[in-house]
Amino acid sequence: MRVLLAEDDDGVAGALTEALYDNGHLPAHVRRGEDVLARHRQADLLLLDLGLPDLDGLEVLRKLRAVSALPVVVLTARGDERSVVRGLRLGADDYLVKPVRLAELLARIEAVTRRATAPAAPAPRTVRVADVEVDLDARRVTVGGTEVRLTAKEFEVLAALAARAGTAVSRQQLMDEVWGDAFLAVSRSLDVHLTQVRAKLGRPEVLTTIRGFGYRFGD
Ligand code: CA
Repeated sequence: MRVLLAEDDDGVAGALTEALYDNGHLPAHVRRGEDVLARHRQADLLLLDLGLPDLDGLEVLRKLRAVSALPVVVLTARGDERSVVRGLRLGADDYLVKPVRLAELLARIEAVTRRATAPAAPAPRTVRVADVEVDLDARRVTVGGTEVRLTAKEFEVLAALAARAGTAVSRQQLMDEVWGDAFLAVSRSLDVHLTQVRAKLGRPEVLTTIRGFGYRFGD
């Protein structure tokens, strides 16, 4: 995959470029936001550092989103949570906090790409995994044909996962979608709701925990 990396720190960029290349990607490195806007059409995914010398990364993202649905993973310095939330709202697909762990970076790229290449055509509004059926429009869940009663929030968590069945969804995405806050102070809410959903479905194998990342519904 062609990965455009916007990063003004040559040390970071060198390490990331090498890791991407070693894992079968075709990285291209730029140092300025203007270069991103000029070259995004030649990329399948953008890794965007927020601290660029010419343009704020969020401004780059805003301008890019006006013209392109290119998958974007934001790279951000630790403690810059407000920027991350703004980034997600502006249309970033995911984010990584520096220093970037390479295995995590590669996994995120894979997940974002899978979502991006999923058929954009009318997504099935009823998702079935094993004998669990989630009707996203009717907000109904059945297991083996029997309706399971979920609370509104429990359903929203399950629906957010079911809408991307087979794809890992990060905790931040779930919290952002369901609670409107990727950095929910009490992120344990998510775990509590998932535990409840699991218990009510009685099918532990359909909801997988991906350690250090998030969750997945189905294979
Ligand atoms: Ca930077």
